[in-house]
Amino acid sequence: MPSTPEFQQTLGKVAGFTGTALHTGEKVSLRLHPAPADHGIKFKRKDLQDEPTIDAKIENLKTVERATTIGEGSVRVHTVEHVLAALWAMGVDNAIVEMDANEPPIGDGSAQAYVDLVRKAAVVTQEEPRKFFAARDTMHVESKTGALLVLLPDDKFRISCTQAGPNNKFTQFLSIEVTPATFEREIAPARTFVYYEDVKPLMDKNLIKGGSLENAIVVRGDAVLSKEPLRFADEFVRHKILDIIGDLALVGRRIRGHVVAVKPGHASNADLARLIAREQTRRSAVAVSRPIPTGDGGLDTDQVMQILPHRFPFLMVDRIISFDTETKCVGVKTVTINEPFFQGHFPGHPVMPGVMQVEAMAQVASILLFKLAKTTSRIGYFMSADEVKFRKPVLPGDTIFIHAELTKSRGERLAKAKCHCVVNDAIVSEAELMFTFLDK
Ligand SMILES: [Zn+2]
Repeated sequence: MPSTPEFQQTLGKVAGFTGTALHTGEKVSLRLHPAPADHGIKFKRKDLQDEPTIDAKIENLKTVERATTIGEGSVRVHTVEHVLAALWAMGVDNAIVEMDANEPPIGDGSAQAYVDLVRKAAVVTQEEPRKFFAARDTMHVESKTGALLVLLPDDKFRISCTQAGPNNKFTQFLSIEVTPATFEREIAPARTFVYYEDVKPLMDKNLIKGGSLENAIVVRGDAVLSKEPLRFADEFVRHKILDIIGDLALVGRRIRGHVVAVKPGHASNADLARLIAREQTRRSAVAVSRPIPTGDGGLDTDQVMQILPHRFPFLMVDRIISFDTETKCVGVKTVTINEPFFQGHFPGHPVMPGVMQVEAMAQVASILLFKLAKTTSRIGYFMSADEVKFRKPVLPGDTIFIHAELTKSRGERLAKAKCHCVVNDAIVSEAELMFTFLDK
């Protein structure tokens, strides 16, 4: 039997608790709410006007200094990794984490309080199937600080982690399959640990007002200082695994793979999450089920790339689905939330930039030009765009049908194309484009 259920899960009811925020030292109330299938995990800032929400997605990652911060627009939520780890590892796919501050309560520095909360709210199964990311090939990230994370194919979600302190003191290793049961027993109780030299300057600057030996283990030289004795002889590596789970939750898909981590930190965890998300985008782009016409009927992605020099993230055509005549064709582009331009355009309200649609039209038109010229030894330069109109927003999840028709070609050097983009049978944008040709 698979250790993870195949269906999405959320919480049975609302549950919350109040605690201290690490950085401000102020009281903060956190409440977990159920959410519908495919909602994912979102943070809600109840203390701000309009109560904005932030998607717990890698695209929204802002900083990884000591803790993981996500944000959209000017809204931030700090130190999301412990609550995310608990939700994700306990099997919750969809939830709203509502808070009245910019940071969850630190608890005892572990994920214990959040596991208790998830248990209180109860995990319930939904009707939609879960989305997975299954590692196919080895993927890895490496950083200058010596962190190395490798993702290997595996039908379970496993983490094998080596942690090492300064001068390789406190070197610890643990390998574990992550399930709700192993997480609750072996990982969730492991507390945050910090090196005295690292936190001294922060304490001096009063940047961790809520920090104390009640919510972190402090390592000073060979001495381990904490309010209660170590919960595990290898508590440090266990907490490193906790942080990896929380940071990789930002992928938004269940991972089937074996993470081998050496001296990981939030920055390298985030790098791996980003790499996985990028690979998922690539897979989604080629997985759209649509018959590809054969022969002269159309072009698949590989053929498009043989003609166009553009590559991710600037290739705006997935396929050409038809050549109606010598001078007319239709290309297709599936727009996903992982498009790089959505990171800044506009956070919280993603719409595809109009100029990217013009670029898509120009790329489809140049395929026509190259096919007509029967050569790729010349480069088409995009000279002007007239009569440009943007009629409707293009949103993540839309499939754009890009129509291009050559209307004029003057001699060998100039060509004009009339283009428009269609989403759900409505024209979303149009333009008249002019090209010139130069020999390569
Ligand atoms: Zn942590």
